Amino acid sequence: MSNEINITVRNKYANKYRKGYPLILKEAVVLPKTLLVEGTLMRLIDEKGKFIGKAYYGKQNKGYGWVISHNESDTIDASFFDRKLKKAVKNRSKLYQDDETTAFRVFNGEGDGIGGFTIDYFDGYYLINWYSEGIFSFSDYVISSLENNVDFKAIYQKKRFGKQGQYIKEDEFVKGERGDFPIIVKENGVNFAVYLNEGAMVGIFLDQREVRRIIRDQYAYGKNVLNTFSYTGAFSVFAALGGASQTTSVDLANRSYAKTIENFSLNGIDYEAHDIIVDDVFKYFKYANRKNKSFDLVILDPPSFARSKKFTFRAEKDYTSLLKETISITEDRGIIVASTNCSKFNMKKFKSFVDQAFKESDINYKLIEEYSLPEDYKTISQFKEGNYLKVLFIQKQGGK
Ligand code: SAH
Repeated sequence: MSNEINITVRNKYANKYRKGYPLILKEAVVLPKTLLVEGTLMRLIDEKGKFIGKAYYGKQNKGYGWVISHNESDTIDASFFDRKLKKAVKNRSKLYQDDETTAFRVFNGEGDGIGGFTIDYFDGYYLINWYSEGIFSFSDYVISSLENNVDFKAIYQKKRFGKQGQYIKEDEFVKGERGDFPIIVKENGVNFAVYLNEGAMVGIFLDQREVRRIIRDQYAYGKNVLNTFSYTGAFSVFAALGGASQTTSVDLANRSYAKTIENFSLNGIDYEAHDIIVDDVFKYFKYANRKNKSFDLVILDPPSFARSKKFTFRAEKDYTSLLKETISITEDRGIIVASTNCSKFNMKKFKSFVDQAFKESDINYKLIEEYSLPEDYKTISQFKEGNYLKVLFIQKQGGK
């Protein structure tokens, strides 16, 4: 194709890309001296000129674009995108038919064959997240493919390619009939308020569906639950529905208070019987320690990176100390649900943080179970870092 430019993959990396690694790493390719236009199609070749794959150029904090085909005869056009999307939709047919769950991921970037964007479904509404200007240049293909393959009330989009991959604030409505927000979606029978046109986060993180369910069905009954970094209280709602004796939700953001009340109320739970605290989690731990408070079940789901007034939390550096503080306010034989979405370390490393935290606290523990992304967040084995979610259920076993 004349609109594809040849890009050489360095020898050292050629095999990695032949085997299906999808992300274009800066150090792996020889880019032309002139700046590439976002969305440029690249024909990847090895140093001998042999074809490796087709990619598009799209600068995001993770790399310079994505390999999207290993077939020389593929033309990257509307029908190419349509085939990928059709397959992705078909893959989620069970979820589409599930009346108890009306929110899930329809297209998960490289896991579904094209990195750089995702599509989520919220009860008839579709939300596209674009992670580079390059992939956004193909947005007409994606939107017409949605029109071909699904019925929708409306399509919304979020651009996440501002400086340092930040969210660009603008009207996010694309097509269809504007929604009246919040819309109410269901997850395993539980109601949640969703706002598609109100900033980067919509009210619920769909990747924790399995974890929330197991907390409700197997862990919450009769327990005093602490939910830290609680956002809209999704874990607290599931715990309360599972029969928790009490839940305490702690989040720094003012918005979390009203949104947590809203989600409790949508599920017929008396929010006044629960504690909803707007505070820094690290401050709350100190307070809980002072007051000798302790919990049977503590949920830890911090962002990978967060700046509060006093200090900056980085999961890769600070998770161990977060765990140590948690251990000290967890009952003997109590459960800590430790979660992270940080793609800078893998499950093995995450487990080493847990081990270190308990060792330094002089306390034994038992790993009960672990979770990663649910099926609709499709991942590929060639791109391990795409499976970013790591969740451990840990039981505190008492002092050594
Ligand atoms: N666990 C949530 C998602 C967490 S999103 C869920 O399952 O839905 C991250 C949240 O952490 C945000 O709501 C943010 O306001 C909050 N946060 C960030 N730093 C914090 C801190 N130091 N103390 C308390 N909350 C914090």
